[in-house]
Amino acid sequence: NSGYGGDGVFRSLRPPLVIPPDPYASMIPFLFRNISSYPNKPALFDSDSGETLTFSEFKTTVAKLSYALNNHLGITKNDVVLIFAPNSIQYPICSYSIVALGAIVTTVNPQLTVEELLTQIQDSKPKIIITVQELYQKVENFGLPVVFLGSKSSRNGCFSYQDLISKSGSVSELPNVAIRGDDTAALLYSSGTIGVRKGVILSHKNFIAASQMVTSDQRLMGEQDYVHLCFLPMFHIYAFGVILYSQLQEGNTIVSMGKFSFHGVLNNIDTYRVTHLWAVPPVILSFTKQNVIKKFHISSLKVIISGGAPLGKGLLMECAKRFPHVFVLQGYGMTETTAAISMGSPIIEHGVFSGSTGRLLPGIEAQIVSPHTNNYKSLPPNHIGEIWVRGASMMQGYLNNPQATMLTIDEHGFVHTGDLGYLDDEGYLFVVDRVKDLIKSNGFQIAPAELEARLFSHSEILEAAVIPYPDNERGEVPIAFVVRFPNCFLTEEDVKRFIANQVAPYFQLRRVIFVDRIKKSASGKILKRVLVEEIRSRI
Ligand code: AMP
Repeated sequence: NSGYGGDGVFRSLRPPLVIPPDPYASMIPFLFRNISSYPNKPALFDSDSGETLTFSEFKTTVAKLSYALNNHLGITKNDVVLIFAPNSIQYPICSYSIVALGAIVTTVNPQLTVEELLTQIQDSKPKIIITVQELYQKVENFGLPVVFLGSKSSRNGCFSYQDLISKSGSVSELPNVAIRGDDTAALLYSSGTIGVRKGVILSHKNFIAASQMVTSDQRLMGEQDYVHLCFLPMFHIYAFGVILYSQLQEGNTIVSMGKFSFHGVLNNIDTYRVTHLWAVPPVILSFTKQNVIKKFHISSLKVIISGGAPLGKGLLMECAKRFPHVFVLQGYGMTETTAAISMGSPIIEHGVFSGSTGRLLPGIEAQIVSPHTNNYKSLPPNHIGEIWVRGASMMQGYLNNPQATMLTIDEHGFVHTGDLGYLDDEGYLFVVDRVKDLIKSNGFQIAPAELEARLFSHSEILEAAVIPYPDNERGEVPIAFVVRFPNCFLTEEDVKRFIANQVAPYFQLRRVIFVDRIKKSASGKILKRVLVEEIRSRI
């Protein structure tokens, strides 16, 4: 059974999604709903600072910080708070505290430049910024109040996280705010299928649904004592939605890691008896290839999950062979779908390494739509087309961008992913290619449109197109095709340096190819796909 209905829609073959009714429309009380059964169990470990919080302490700290944000910084419903920080135990505390107030959390990659950060600040209009001392330089000139995680600060307009929590005294109850399921909880930035980064509006109900979808197999397995290692960046939906919000509400423990290092990961698996390793394909690659693993105790590991970018079938099989006692699974999703929409399952797929991204998660519907015709045509099993998905975890839209919203979610609620794939006869989803204008490097998004806009701003550049280039380590890296103005002698190094000064390190151009012209359609649109195919055939 593929789940394919006569109406052209594939439906999830998993047990139906149960979303609790109204008393839990607000996600934070929902996420804490069961903690009276395990108050003293560890919720969070910080592998960098050594701090630990039990579930009961976690909830109390969230209550105190919410109270302080409201009382001392005036944060109330619908205010936006920006977190600009690396992973730490405080990250989930801050984001829970903001959302508990009915306020909106927006997150940013700490690698962004001041200019890139400014764009997001102008778009999302945060009232305060939460950051760490090391990143203060990047935010000090925005004129916004700053909360420092960790250490104290006496600077003007700056507040210390520790002081704020201490000031809340004996507060231990979450704030009592009227929140509806479709109120906004978070704004995570993604370029989606086209253009520059946009604020993806995710609601309380989106997160409640996603948290139930992602953990449905774990609930079926009936075990509760999982330990999840989180080195993936907490600003991205993968860690933010799939690990933090989904796993903590199941009573699972999270180990936060500030910076990825191969040895650090292995040490932490050993120290904290980690059961679940969430990774992106480059990490899976290093895990599979390295020999040093033998020296570490990783017998606690039960599941390795890859997501964020395609994991080749060969690598998946190699990884599974390397760790015979571990389920190696793949998940697929995007920021716009709050978390994963399909995922492999340790219950039914042991020993099956097809390279699929698993079956649709509970409540998810999909259509595979022919990308070759202008007329909508939904395809049956085993036919490749654009993946469209619908369900309770689909975003509410893009902030300040109704046009991009209209292009991405249609009137029937389907998100057009910009990915190509198919569902097979048994309802397994295979993602085979990407047709949208997006580069994924080490799991991070790179929006070609942003690099192109910067290239266009150079006085000697007439035209430019940025496309992905395959890279063994990072999956993909950006390269640019550039047309110079006549009699200009700009070199590859000049262009790379010009870009390097303006963007985060992972946005750097790997190569610049000078051409006389860039192929365009009759309507003047750059034929990116042709460039991508050309580069692929050259390689
Ligand atoms: P993001 O919003 O940053 O999570 O990026 C989402 C995009 O990452 C998807 O639309 C896909 O293009 C890509 N992606 C995520 N997971 C997978 C996967 N398992 N296989 C292939 N592509 C993936």
